[in-house]
Amino acid sequence: MSVKRSVSVLGATGSVGTSTLDLIERAPDDYRVVALTAHRDVAGLADAARRLGAEVAVIGEPGLYAALRDALEGSGIEAAAGGDAIVEAAARPADWTMAAIVGCAGLPPVMAALERGGTVALANKEALVSAGALMIAAVERNGATLLPVDSEHNAIFQCLDRTDLSRVRRIVLTASGGPFRTWSPEQMRGVTPAEAVKHPNWSMGAKISVDSATMMNKGLELIEAHHLFPVGPERLDILVHPQSVIHSMVDYVDGSTLAQLGSPDMRVPIAHALAWPRRMETPCRPLDLAAIGTLTFEAPDPARFPALALARAALAAGGARPAVLNAANERAVAAFLERRAGFLDIAAIVDQALCAYDPPAPASLDDVFAIDAEARAYADRALETVIA
Ligand code: NAD
Ligand code: MG
Repeated sequence: MSVKRSVSVLGATGSVGTSTLDLIERAPDDYRVVALTAHRDVAGLADAARRLGAEVAVIGEPGLYAALRDALEGSGIEAAAGGDAIVEAAARPADWTMAAIVGCAGLPPVMAALERGGTVALANKEALVSAGALMIAAVERNGATLLPVDSEHNAIFQCLDRTDLSRVRRIVLTASGGPFRTWSPEQMRGVTPAEAVKHPNWSMGAKISVDSATMMNKGLELIEAHHLFPVGPERLDILVHPQSVIHSMVDYVDGSTLAQLGSPDMRVPIAHALAWPRRMETPCRPLDLAAIGTLTFEAPDPARFPALALARAALAAGGARPAVLNAANERAVAAFLERRAGFLDIAAIVDQALCAYDPPAPASLDDVFAIDAEARAYADRALETVIA
């Protein structure tokens, strides 16, 4: 009889979180759930915790403690609330932790999971963008394992020969181009939140869907790739591939290119990280290339997607620039979703925050949070000028 692996899911009610739970539920003999966390969705969290028999469920919003406790009554599942309780849940021993909280808010629990030397499946790219050097140092210090879940990075992980990166000519991240790939700037000016979150290929949370529409998502992914696979920025490329079948590629010096392909379903990379180093069966549709027929490719357009150049510059400069980029972007995307900023204002706000605020590189997590807070304040001021 095989021993069940213990797993925790941070951000269990989101798009990646529910896909993760879907896979875990299909293999009840293989996994045992320790902790599930969510921000505000008490009903979704309590339901998932009951279905999966979690040890503990944690809601981020402290005021929702009583509601969660009541929803779990009689289940024997421990209830907790607040940011510190999420960090404590992430620090509980578990063989495998899914980091699927959105935004820099997910950084403290990811660090807690890394500090105990566990295996962390990382979807939460904003944490790595803001604090990449500190996170990678924590991985090395604690003998932790970081498995990329973002589909591009998971693809690269599967194709990359990590024993000799000098033989890698370049890593190519593919991008769908988002819903506005062919739109003119005039058309993009009037984009609504509903249009921006409707991704052509992937079903995802609101924030990453907007990032895909501005292509800031691909910019964040360049920075993410740089930390996960230590090659210089000059060896990281972006290729627009609207069908989202090839999830990324690695070119080697001998002229070989290795690619990972699959249906655009996040359960494919999540399953890879969950079963790693083995493989598990999933209900995902096998790729039918004869039915798809044609795969197309094009270069990204930096003029219509200025977020790409902002992210490239932040990556090249390093230090605190990626943290400022990420924080300002989180703020600008939230303002857009609340209809307080236009679609094209998002990159303009990030640009203004980067121009106005250039702090030294963070040396600690506290530094990252201070930079994050300050960059948000700069983004708020930029928001006032763009909408004025
Ligand atoms: P989502 O909005 O659907 O879910 C986010 C989850 O995080 C929810 O469970 C929510 O309760 C929790 N959360 C949000 N704010 C929180 C806070 N302040 N404190 C604690 N918990 C909080 O997002 P998603 O689409 O699942 O994305 C999650 C992460 O995975 C993001 O970083 C995203 O960039 C990355 N990612 C997502 C996809 C995808 O297909 N959805 C693909 C690649 C990478
Ligand atoms: Mg991705």
